[in-house]
Amino acid sequence: MFKTVRGMRDLLPIDAERMRHVEQVSRTVSKLYGYEEIITPVLESYDLLAAKTSEEIRERMYTFKDLGGRKVALRPEFTASVARLVASKLRNEPKPMRLFSVGSLYRYDEPQYGRFREFWQANYELFGSTRPEADAEILILTNDLLKRLGLQNYRFKIGHTEILRGILNQEGLDERKQNSVRQLLDKKSWAEALAVARDADVSQKCLTTLERLFETRGEDAFQVLEGVKETVQEYESAVAAVENLWKILELVKDSGAQLDVMVEAGFARGLEYYTGMIFEPYVPEVDVALGGGGRYDKLIQLFGGESIPAVGVAQGIDRIVLSLKKQGVSPKAAKELSVVVISVKNESMAKALELSDVLRKAGLPVEVAVMGRSISRALADADRRGVAYAVIVGPEELKEEKVVLREMKKSKQRTVEISNLTEEILAGSK
Ligand code: AMP
Repeated sequence: MFKTVRGMRDLLPIDAERMRHVEQVSRTVSKLYGYEEIITPVLESYDLLAAKTSEEIRERMYTFKDLGGRKVALRPEFTASVARLVASKLRNEPKPMRLFSVGSLYRYDEPQYGRFREFWQANYELFGSTRPEADAEILILTNDLLKRLGLQNYRFKIGHTEILRGILNQEGLDERKQNSVRQLLDKKSWAEALAVARDADVSQKCLTTLERLFETRGEDAFQVLEGVKETVQEYESAVAAVENLWKILELVKDSGAQLDVMVEAGFARGLEYYTGMIFEPYVPEVDVALGGGGRYDKLIQLFGGESIPAVGVAQGIDRIVLSLKKQGVSPKAAKELSVVVISVKNESMAKALELSDVLRKAGLPVEVAVMGRSISRALADADRRGVAYAVIVGPEELKEEKVVLREMKKSKQRTVEISNLTEEILAGSK
């Protein structure tokens, strides 16, 4: 027997439906906020994907040579492909430019709860604005998406990369060392991060500042930021970063969007390219991030484009699905109006097919009974699968241009005129 490759999953109907539901809502949100969809290849050149992703992800890419000898890889994230486009074909598009992409990504991660080697993201990126309202929009949009999906008790962990960078730059720490500090922080290894700074001979003042910073977190955003500002007061760009985050969160709050936040001064995300506000939504039931977002103003330049500021978010569809499942939230029952059309005799089969076509044209999901089963067995099967209505097409009723319409849940049936069939079913949903 063949099995799926380790880390790969088959999504059977219930899970596939949940995934597609989140995808569909994410697409609706993209339209509501003016993000235009682009579709980029799953396979890209290794050099493009390796260019600016983090060391950690680079090492976990599925990389191989194609038959033409090109070194290629499966995309581990969308941002490199989107950056390639923004630096080339979309270079001259007017700004702001809002782009949406959704699809599968591949990372050779160790499979575990919420971590797969093939996973899905819905990705929103806003190019061309450095202003806090652009950052606020990404937060508000993420909140809107999670709310529309019916997710409960989610909270945004929020920070700002330039708080730490401001301090470490002023202390003269090189980019490589800064990255290792960031990666340790991303893993919540605060003591080790501090040790790297200590080994790099930063000042005592810096160590004290970092120590306090790593301990600073809280739900009252403005109170936390007040404290952080005081902690970093001798580091000018760190202070500017705190003020920037303040402005963003103030805009979100004043817009009326009710975001539960946890501001964390020492919060760092794994990807190296962030240059501003960063965030990750969480729910209590699942201890991994549901998505990740932030500002990355220098990225497009690194792909050979002009300097174009950007802020975006990648929503992790698989983990959103896991969370909805844990919380017992199911997608609005798509089976609510589903119909099975059963022909009583062979001679009424053509009519059954014709009627199923009429119902589908009215937007109803219809299955035709194709197993040649008796009516009672076909009904039992429809019942087991949660179908809402059965239309029973028999020669007797057909003579009068009628069929039998059965409401499966209520086990009630009546004879209806074929000309009224669609209306009868649609009316039942009201
Ligand atoms: P990143 O691209 O690393 O910033 O991740 C953004 C989001 O993608 C995460 O918060 C997850 O929801 C999702 N994600 C990343 N890696 C995986 C994975 N291996 N399996 C499932 N979801 C993932």
